[in-house]
Amino acid sequence: MDFILATKIFYAVIVFLFGITIGSFLNVLIYRIPKKENIVSESSHCMSCNHKLYPIDLVPLFSWIFLGGKCRYCKAKISPQYPIVEAINGIMYALIFWFICGAEPKLALLGYCAAFSALLVTAVIDWRTMEIPDSMWITVLVGGIIVYIDELIAEGFDWPCLLERVIGFFAASGILFLLAVITKGGMGGGDIKLMAACGFLLGWKVVLLSLVMGGVIGTLYLIFCAVKNKGKVPRKVPFAPHLAAAVVICMFVGTKILEWYFALCGISHTHIH
Ligand SMILES: [Zn+2]
Repeated sequence: MDFILATKIFYAVIVFLFGITIGSFLNVLIYRIPKKENIVSESSHCMSCNHKLYPIDLVPLFSWIFLGGKCRYCKAKISPQYPIVEAINGIMYALIFWFICGAEPKLALLGYCAAFSALLVTAVIDWRTMEIPDSMWITVLVGGIIVYIDELIAEGFDWPCLLERVIGFFAASGILFLLAVITKGGMGGGDIKLMAACGFLLGWKVVLLSLVMGGVIGTLYLIFCAVKNKGKVPRKVPFAPHLAAAVVICMFVGTKILEWYFALCGISHTHIH
C-alpha cells in the first residue's frame, strides 16, 4: 500500500471518529429540541434511573457496545437509536470525505457534514413529532454557504455558480410553497424552508431532482404502509425523512444522475453544476 493511500485512510478514520462523536451530540439534539430543553447546560443522565452519566458511559458507539446496550447503573435497556445515529453519522462523514471531497481535508467537508447531520436530526425529529426545527434547516443553509465559500476559494467568483445556488434556494421550495397554497396547508412550512436551504447547497438542477426523488420515496413508503395495513394509509405522513434521504443521495450522485439522464436524451450540456 502506498503512502498516499495510507494517509487518506488514516484521515478517513479520523473523520469517522469525529462523526460518531458529533453523532452522540445529535442524539442529545433529537431528544432535547422537541422538549425545548436546554441543550448544553444540563448534564447527561440515564432516562430510566436518572443517574448522572460520566464520560466513560458516553464514549460514542463503544460505550453502548461494551455495556451490552444497558445502563451501567440500573441495567435498563438503552435505545439502539443512540448507537445507530452515531454509526450512521460516522460512516456518512467518512463517505462524504472519501467520495465528495476526494479524500482531501478541505473546507467543503465541514459544510457537507454539517448539512448531513442537520438532515439526519430533521428526519428523526420530523418522523417522531411531525415538526422541523428552524435551527436545523438554518444549519443546512450554513453548510451550503460553507461549501460555496470553499468553491469561491478554489475556483474564484463567477455569476453562473452563484445563480445556480440562488435559484436553487427558490426552486424546490417554490414548488412546495405552491403545493401548500393549492392544498391549503397540506404541505408544511418546515418542508418549504428545508428545501430552500437544500437548494442553496445543491443548486437548482440537483435540488429539483431530489424533490422528485423525495416524492418517489414518499410514495413508495405510502404503498408499503398500504400493503402492510391492508389498504389503510396513514392520514398524515412526515415528508422530511423522505426528502432528507433524497437530498443525501443527490449530494453524492445527483450530478451523475443528471448527466446520465441528459446523455440519454441526447442533450449536450456544458454546465451541469
Ligand atoms: Zn439507569
